[in-house]
Amino acid sequence: MQYADSERARDVADRARELMEDIVLPRERDRAGGVPISSGTVAELRDAAREYDIYAPQIPEEYGGMGLGFRDSLPVFEEAGRSILGPVAMRVDAPDEGNMHLLEMAGDDLQKETYLESLVAGEITSGFSMTEPMQGAGSDPKMIQTTAEKDGDEWVIDGHKWWTTQGLDADVLIVLARTDEDVHPYEGCSLFLVPADADGVGVVRDVPHMGGSSHGISHAEIVYDNVRVPEEHLLGEQNQGFVHAQARLGPARLTHCMRYSGMAQRALEIAKAYTSERQGFDSTLSEKQSLRHRIADAETRLHVARTAIRDAADRIAAGNEARVPVSMCKVFTANATQDAIDLAVQCCGANGIGKDLPLSDFYEAVRQFRIVDGADEVHRRVIARAAFEDVNKDELEPLTRFGEPNR
Ligand SMILES: Cc1cc2nc3c(=O)[nH]c(=O)nc-3n(C[C@H](O)[C@H](O)[C@H](O)COP(=O)(O)OP(=O)(O)OC[C@H]3O[C@@H](n4cnc5c(N)ncnc54)[C@H](O)[C@@H]3O)c2cc1C
Repeated sequence: MQYADSERARDVADRARELMEDIVLPRERDRAGGVPISSGTVAELRDAAREYDIYAPQIPEEYGGMGLGFRDSLPVFEEAGRSILGPVAMRVDAPDEGNMHLLEMAGDDLQKETYLESLVAGEITSGFSMTEPMQGAGSDPKMIQTTAEKDGDEWVIDGHKWWTTQGLDADVLIVLARTDEDVHPYEGCSLFLVPADADGVGVVRDVPHMGGSSHGISHAEIVYDNVRVPEEHLLGEQNQGFVHAQARLGPARLTHCMRYSGMAQRALEIAKAYTSERQGFDSTLSEKQSLRHRIADAETRLHVARTAIRDAADRIAAGNEARVPVSMCKVFTANATQDAIDLAVQCCGANGIGKDLPLSDFYEAVRQFRIVDGADEVHRRVIARAAFEDVNKDELEPLTRFGEPNR
C-alpha cells in the first residue's frame, strides 16, 4: 500500500527494507526461538545499519543521527517493527528512542553532550521511571508518591518505581518526582537525570513478565533511597515534569504504533504465505472464504491504523500536541495489531505456537501494547472527554418532556 510519505522518507524506508531483507530477517530466522538478543548481536546489527546508512534516522545530525525528523522517519519505524530485532538495529528502539527525544527537547547543552550523543551512539542505555507500585502513579499519574527535595545545590530523591523498561542495564534513569507538595501534581513535579550508579539507587529485581524470554529487555523495580544529584541534573524546567513527560509520551505512543503496525503487517505476510502453501479439505487454506474474509478485515484495519498514524504524525510535526488523535491511534492500533497477530497465529496452526516462526514472540510482545503508555481505557477517557465537550442540545429540541406537551 502506498502512502503520502515524502520522497526522502520513501528512499530511506527502501534502504531500511533492504537491511531487513538482507541482514535482520536472516539473523532472526537463524536465531533459536525464544532466545534473548545478545549484546553481540545488537552490535553486529547496528554496524550493519550504519553500513546501509539507516541508523538513528529520527535524531538530528549534530547528535549522530540522520536528521530525518519525526514524520519522515515514520515508514522506517514501520519497517523496523517487522522483526523484534529491527528497532534495536536501527536505533529506533524503546525506551531509548523516547528518552533521546525527551533529551533533545528538554535537555540543556551539557546534558545533551553527556547523555544524548552517547545514547544515540549506543554506548549507553537509559530508563524512564514514572510508574510506581500501588497506591502510587499508574494509570492515574497524579497519584505519584516519589519526592525530590532541594538541599543546597543538590536534589534528594526518595521513592519507589517499577516497570522501568531497561532499568536493569540502564546507565541513566529519568525519574519523575514531586517537587512541590502544595500544588496540583501536574504543576508540582519535575524530571531528573539520575546516574544508575548513584548512591541510593537500588534495583530490587527484574519484574518477571510475559514476552521476557524473547526480547530480553528488563522491566525493573527500583528504590530511590535518599539519592542525591547535583541541581544540574534537573531535566527541563522545575515543576514542569508532567509537561515534559507528556511531550515525550505523545510521540512515543505514535512510534509504538508505527513499530507494532510493522509487526502486524509481517504477521499477516507469514499467515498468507503459510495458508497459500498448506493444503486441507481439497484446497489450500488460502482458498477458504472464511479465512480470506478475516485476512481482508485485518488488512483493512491495519490500513486504517497506518493512515491515522500518519495524520497524527503530521499534526505533531506541525507543532500540535494532537492528544486526541494520538489516543485514537494508540487504542485502535493496539487492538488492530493484537487481533492481526492473533489471527496469524491461528492461520499457522501449531506453527503459530512453535518458535520456528516469529509469531509466538510477536503474540507475547503485542499484549503489553494495550497497557503500556496508557491503557486502552485511559485513552478512551481522553477521547470521550473531547467527544462530550461540545454536545449539541438543539438535536433534542423535538422531543417531548414530562409536563411540556408537544403542541
Ligand atoms: C511491558 C511494560 C513496560 C513498561 N515500561 C514502563 C517504563 O519504562 N516506565 C514507566 O514509568 N512505566 C512503564 N510501564 C508501566 C505502564 O505505563 C503502566 O503499567 C500503565 O500506565 C498502567 O498503570 P498500572 O499498571 O499501574 O495499571 P492500573 O493503574 O493499576 O490500572 C489497571 C487497569 O485498570 C484499567 N483502568 C485504569 N484506569 C481506568 C479508568 N479510568 N476507567 C476504566 N478502567 C481503567 C485499565 O484496564 C488498566 O490496565 C510499563 C508497563 C509494561 C507492562
